[in-house]
Amino acid sequence: MEREVDILRELTAPLLAWYDGHSRDLPWRRDVSPYRTWVSEIMLQQTRVAAVLPYFERFMAAFPTVEALSVADTAALLKLWEGLGYYSRARHLQEAARIITERYGGQFPQTYRELTKLPGVGDYTAGAILSIAFGQPVPAVDGNVLRIVSRLTGSSLDVLEGKNRALFRGWMAQVVPTERPGAYNQALMDLGATVCLPSGAPLCEQCPAAAFCAARRQGLQASLPVRGKKAPRRREELTVFVLLRADGAVALRRREDTGLLAQLWEYPNVSGTLDEAQAAAQLAAWGLTPHRWRKRLSARHVFTHILWEMTGYVVETDGAGAPDWLWADEAARRRCAVPSAFEKFTKELKGEE
Ligand code: SF4
Repeated sequence: MEREVDILRELTAPLLAWYDGHSRDLPWRRDVSPYRTWVSEIMLQQTRVAAVLPYFERFMAAFPTVEALSVADTAALLKLWEGLGYYSRARHLQEAARIITERYGGQFPQTYRELTKLPGVGDYTAGAILSIAFGQPVPAVDGNVLRIVSRLTGSSLDVLEGKNRALFRGWMAQVVPTERPGAYNQALMDLGATVCLPSGAPLCEQCPAAAFCAARRQGLQASLPVRGKKAPRRREELTVFVLLRADGAVALRRREDTGLLAQLWEYPNVSGTLDEAQAAAQLAAWGLTPHRWRKRLSARHVFTHILWEMTGYVVETDGAGAPDWLWADEAARRRCAVPSAFEKFTKELKGEE
């Protein structure tokens, strides 16, 4: 595999020179610390930079240190995370902050082995923290880097297979420079985000690797990286009830402690698609008397492995409902994190108030 390593090694100098003129100005790069690098990298998982920016600033204002995060009110943390999605990331951040505070006296561990034992910290995040915050020559290989490596080396290996990702990571471990490893990894992140774009549309004429990129030479940009078939998403139907009491309170309930959207708040719902007669029967089963059926609406939300197809009813009602429900007034709703999977219903609610 020396050929691939040689090609990747050839990239280092032009990549760093390109980065010096083209790096993105991002808040976590202005004032670098292990804590800021860690929080930013966790927020950026599966999430666009533009979406992360306001959350990052708010997060740092609310929890400026790892100690502050470790003792934060979890409900307040989840509320701050509302809309960013993948809420397990927020919970893992706090669990890891507690470990760093209690076991390491508030100082980040500086080894790959210790970092990857922290909840939510995998290969990529550990590599980013070690290289950017501690100047260690460790690769940070995410989807962007896999795409660049595939194209640059002309590799037809399936990047969804773990053994191939490990192989690519092994190549990168041999070429990360001992000088400026953080800049090197961030340069790859920027190259993937702004030049070697996904979906077969890279801007090769602007790329520091244009002269020696195998995909460019062979016209293979559109077919690389190779991504084998993913398992299809499981489709689930739900009927969601936005239930309004005369005093303006809305019924919310807490999701289970584990699993999808754990511990977040939701509008009461049942599986399956209920027609109006079935929905009325469901309300009766909850001990509710509907006064007015305001609206029927539908929504869908795509998770990594699941697709929710939702039918919703907005109903003015009377009665207590299930014992574990919270009839939330406006102030209570500001404290309760309702995930963006229910955004359409939340918007409907706001629009109708
Ligand atoms: S030359 Fe084109 S395909 Fe090759 S790494 Fe650069 S942007 Fe990507």
